[in-house]
Amino acid sequence: MKEGLIASRIGAYVGDMAKGIHNGELDLVMANARKKLDWEGQYAAAICPADARAIRDAKPPEDPDTCTMCGSYCAVKLVNEWLDDASQDVFD
Ligand code: SF4
Repeated sequence: MKEGLIASRIGAYVGDMAKGIHNGELDLVMANARKKLDWEGQYAAAICPADARAIRDAKPPEDPDTCTMCGSYCAVKLVNEWLDDASQDVFD
């Protein structure tokens, strides 16, 4: 039942975006939180924050900045570190 409600919320979110009711600003909030590896921000932007938190809490990563998917090979963390060290702004 719960999974069906979550699926319907996802479908409604996408449908509302297709109809122009919103422009996906929650996706931008999530993307920015993901870029910062801001887990609290990602929970806040999730369709079901409690489930997102429970899944992460059930199997915490060795490095708390990353997740268990890539662990120490976290591409987001590696790129952020590289950008912090880069002498030039790659977006110029
Ligand atoms: S570990 Fe992998 S899946 Fe997890 S945040 Fe980093 S890049 Fe993304």
